Amino acid sequence: MKRRFYAAALFALTVATVQSRAWAQAPEGLTAEKLAASAEAQRHVAAAMRLAGDDLAEQAEALCSAVGTGRAALIRQAMGMPPVEDHRIDPVRMFENLYYIGFNDVGAWAIDTSEGLILIDSLNSPAEARDVLVAGLEQVGLDPNDIEYVIVGHGHNDHVGGTTYLKDTYGARILLSGPDWDLALSGERPDRPRPARDIVVTDGYEVTLGDTTVTLAVTPGHTDGTLAMIVPVRHGGQTHTAVIFSGTQMRSPEQVANFKRVYDDIAQPLGADVALTGHPGLDSLLTDAELEQCKATNGPCWTTGINTLEMMTAIRERYPEGSHPLILGEDRFGRYYSIMMECASAKLAAME
Ligand SMILES: [Zn+2]
Repeated sequence: MKRRFYAAALFALTVATVQSRAWAQAPEGLTAEKLAASAEAQRHVAAAMRLAGDDLAEQAEALCSAVGTGRAALIRQAMGMPPVEDHRIDPVRMFENLYYIGFNDVGAWAIDTSEGLILIDSLNSPAEARDVLVAGLEQVGLDPNDIEYVIVGHGHNDHVGGTTYLKDTYGARILLSGPDWDLALSGERPDRPRPARDIVVTDGYEVTLGDTTVTLAVTPGHTDGTLAMIVPVRHGGQTHTAVIFSGTQMRSPEQVANFKRVYDDIAQPLGADVALTGHPGLDSLLTDAELEQCKATNGPCWTTGINTLEMMTAIRERYPEGSHPLILGEDRFGRYYSIMMECASAKLAAME
């Protein structure tokens, strides 16, 4: 346990200098001291650690730390290493019908249905949509002419930037929530073209293509209309249910309550047992060797711990044999989800 306290002190010292990343979870101004000083916050942290048991302890500790998922970047910085440059990675077939295509820090998803392709997100720009996303589809043997829908998890440029190209080139229909259509369109610039407002989705909206139905839930926090996408995924002859989060920040008790409602009313009834995000975990900020060094010297280095590059590499190397590291099971998924809510509540309490 001792090295964990050491690590916490380390984070507190370095938090002031780290750059905030798009997926950073920690509220502005939150420190380890504020978290420690709030009894209410500590009650939520303790609840998260109880939920975590042994198997999710690293994830819970990371999620409940003041720096949240910025952890690995801070550890890296504290070790005196430069930031890892963003780089394209080979497409990963994460499930029989689900591919991750893009970069180490942000990617898009392709769902292969019996009647064509549903994409989730579109990378940063028309050029990336063409040169990385479409090229990646072709690399794994999928036909970009089969793209029917592009669901955009939220309206920031790293998700919506390639949609104009996909609409103009393949006639894809573009889906966002109402608030995030507004956000996306407000970000239009000459170098950042935006498609005209197309399909506006609401909570519980279903996108069906052939044999596949994707269910959408609105989870405000990162943006006002951030979506979670619930996707049936296949592995080894079985169908599982992945929740692809486009943002897991919760900025008020109401937003925490909404996340709970989404779990109770949508995700859990659909059998959610896999958690994914379009930002594949901050282990992406560490090379394999650096990750080992980090674990040896700083204790837990997981961040989201859910779909990290480390896991992606494991899948790429082992697929389709072997156990699938991303299938949590329904119980673990439920505990992970509750841990996210407890850690969010802890941070809100500490900021009061
Ligand atoms: Zn964003």
